[in-house]
Amino acid sequence: MYPFTLERPNSLAEARQRAASGAQPLAGGQTLLASMKLRLSAPEQLLDLGGIAELAGIRREGDAFVIGAMTRHADVAADAALQRDFPALAGLAGSIGDRQVRAMGTLGGSVANNDPAACYPSAVLGSGATVVTTQREIAADDFFTDLFSTALEPGELITAIRFPVPQRAAYEKLRQPASHFPLAGVFVAQYPGGVRVAITGAGNGVFRHAGLEAALSSRFAPESVEGVAVDYSGFGSDLHASAEYRAHLVGVLARRAVARALDAG
Ligand SMILES: Cc1cc2nc3c(=O)[nH]c(=O)nc-3n(C[C@H](O)[C@H](O)[C@H](O)COP(=O)(O)OP(=O)(O)OC[C@H]3O[C@@H](n4cnc5c(N)ncnc54)[C@H](O)[C@@H]3O)c2cc1C
Repeated sequence: MYPFTLERPNSLAEARQRAASGAQPLAGGQTLLASMKLRLSAPEQLLDLGGIAELAGIRREGDAFVIGAMTRHADVAADAALQRDFPALAGLAGSIGDRQVRAMGTLGGSVANNDPAACYPSAVLGSGATVVTTQREIAADDFFTDLFSTALEPGELITAIRFPVPQRAAYEKLRQPASHFPLAGVFVAQYPGGVRVAITGAGNGVFRHAGLEAALSSRFAPESVEGVAVDYSGFGSDLHASAEYRAHLVGVLARRAVARALDAG
């Protein structure tokens, strides 16, 4: 690794100031520390957000859950209110990586990182969530911009994410056994205004699928997925799966997600 300084503020105001002067936020370190070890990333100042109590925790606000950026995957998975009222989100968190990744990895780190195969971005986009930052609120539809890219400006920190509670939702993925990241994952959520479908793992980043959303908004049933075309021209092909196979997975996982959402009530 290169030399770097490490600061651990215990207030958001201090963190905000440090981030504005160029320090890079460190959350669970599950991606950032690995990329530093590989010399893919060489920040000179690290800003450990782990000491800021107001960044962690889960609370209900009206028809939404607000989850702090530093909330660990394991805490989202174990939250009783989420398990009862938004089990798709608790289940998604519980399916990420392995025990160590879930103990350390955070919601804010995952969403800021925007790995094209990460699970959380599909829940954020699929539930039309709002990303709350130190500067503003950003709608999920405007947040994920490209491969490992987001609408965050330099120095802007995610503080929390507000997830509207759906009538029904489910997340299905096929895990790549070595990395545990999904080869493809589909998050389906039904709201009074219609169904949202977000796909991860298949392309350059998470995206919504208009054809699946229209078919499922018209009738929320696994059969509605049949016959919906999945264009795989922008999908990834690698040693684990071809683009065509990923497109096939999207259909299979979407059907499974709808069936699971219906089972959950
Ligand atoms: C073996 C392994 C398996 C994994 N499997 C999965 C999986 O199946 N599904 C999945 O979704 N993920 C998976 N992950 C990723 C993991 O879940 C973490 O979410 C991810 O590594 C980033 O979260 P973190 O908290 O560790 O962030 P860090 O690594 O600390 O930071 C990541 C990036 O986000 C920035 N950042 C962090 N917090 C903030 C903030 N509040 N505001 C602005 N920027 C911020 C950092 O500066 C950095 O650029 C896996 C990781 C590993 C190592």
